Amino acid sequence: TLNLKHIRQNPGLYEQNCIDRNYAPYAKNGWRILELHDRLVAQQREAVELRQRNNVLSKELKGGASGKSTLVDEAKELKGELAEYERQERVVQEEMEQLALELPNLSSLQTPTGEKPKVVGHINGDTPPSNHSGKSHVDIGRELDLLDFEASATTSGWGWYFLKNEAALLEQALVQYALTLAMRRGWQVMTPPSLVYSHIASACGFMPRDQSGETQIYAIGHQEGKEQKASLVLAGTAEIPFAGSQANKTLSESDLPLKIIGPSRCYRAEAGARGVDTKGLYRVHEFTKVEMFAWTAPPFSSTSGFENDEEVQQTPSEQVFDEMVALQTEILTSLGLHARILEMPTTDLGASATRKIDIEAFFPSRTSIDNGYGEVTSASVCTDYQARRLNTKVRFERGEVKSTFVHTVNGTAMAVPRVLAAILENGWSEEEGVVRVPGVLRKWMPGEAATIGP
Ligand code: AMP
Repeated sequence: TLNLKHIRQNPGLYEQNCIDRNYAPYAKNGWRILELHDRLVAQQREAVELRQRNNVLSKELKGGASGKSTLVDEAKELKGELAEYERQERVVQEEMEQLALELPNLSSLQTPTGEKPKVVGHINGDTPPSNHSGKSHVDIGRELDLLDFEASATTSGWGWYFLKNEAALLEQALVQYALTLAMRRGWQVMTPPSLVYSHIASACGFMPRDQSGETQIYAIGHQEGKEQKASLVLAGTAEIPFAGSQANKTLSESDLPLKIIGPSRCYRAEAGARGVDTKGLYRVHEFTKVEMFAWTAPPFSSTSGFENDEEVQQTPSEQVFDEMVALQTEILTSLGLHARILEMPTTDLGASATRKIDIEAFFPSRTSIDNGYGEVTSASVCTDYQARRLNTKVRFERGEVKSTFVHTVNGTAMAVPRVLAAILENGWSEEEGVVRVPGVLRKWMPGEAATIGP
């Protein structure tokens, strides 16, 4: 996990990066790692001297030296001391590793510092449409018998829902649409498991608790007969099983970029969100999402090898990232939803991303919050943050560097509940009492219906 050379060259950068990203408790980790490393080197030097003395002693003892019993005693003592050095070395190394694990990824130069995102584009017009009634999807869903929150309150509590009739079909249509479109663009379709080992989730940057200490992940418990490490959690996103699928593997350079997409059920405890968005589909505990995930080569520079380098124009991970944002834009454009594209600031990057773009669609019922804009997709470049923790490497057929960590990129293709809510609210016609179905989804609806309602 530890990139000691880079920390040694830029300890101040690591400190400032933690502060900028709201990871202040870890701001001194870089310095602490360097201190521990200095101690480790000193200890190793001392241990070398002891080993040399140990070798001399063994030779003397073998050669039948006089005063054997004092030599035997000394050899015994030395052995004990060496064992203690080795134990201390392991402790220090583990501590360094732990401190490195806690460090968030370094932020990209494109990322605005602070809390304010930068608007970098719009979809379907520069301003939200004004010809809407402002009716919420909860009311539309009730009127057209599409959503049931009362039944789910009985079965499961707050944050759950039943999709009914055309809403349940729209969910499948949205998944099919996103998968078909991506497959046509060369993405490989894959359906992942919903449960993952907690250490795989942590390696991807998902901790059981977030920075504010709130529980984010549902834990399922331990697998029978397995050690602590093998506890299972419900994946909050397919990014986790997808990233984990290549753990401890070395990919060939010619396999990259490796791009997969798949649908999954996502589970979020959302403990800190109680009180906000408590109605409807906007913030729920379980939802269907189609996720894109890719492994790419790290940037190549002819002068310095495979390193992040200013000489490199666009890195392979950024190329795939742009492809993801283009696909997200294409989907939302074709669904007829107005949206804005945001370059997310440092405080929004979480642990793993170096750069993140969110797209926020317009929800007519939410104009009192952020002028109606709400996040519907997110895409992140994680450089080698996840690959280091999962030990996913790439083998090169050229250059001096034989293998190194890959880069990973992830992005939402379709987060069903929010897009469904946006379609219901933006497609609602107050006069006719119907919802217009976006043209691209009609082929999956009964009779290719253009509207839902009487
Ligand atoms: P994230 O993996 O947190 O970046 O989320 C990806 C997308 O999933 C977001 O852009 C939202 O559209 C959607 N999403 C995230 N959390 C929830 C939730 N609790 N309920 C419904 N949709 C969500």
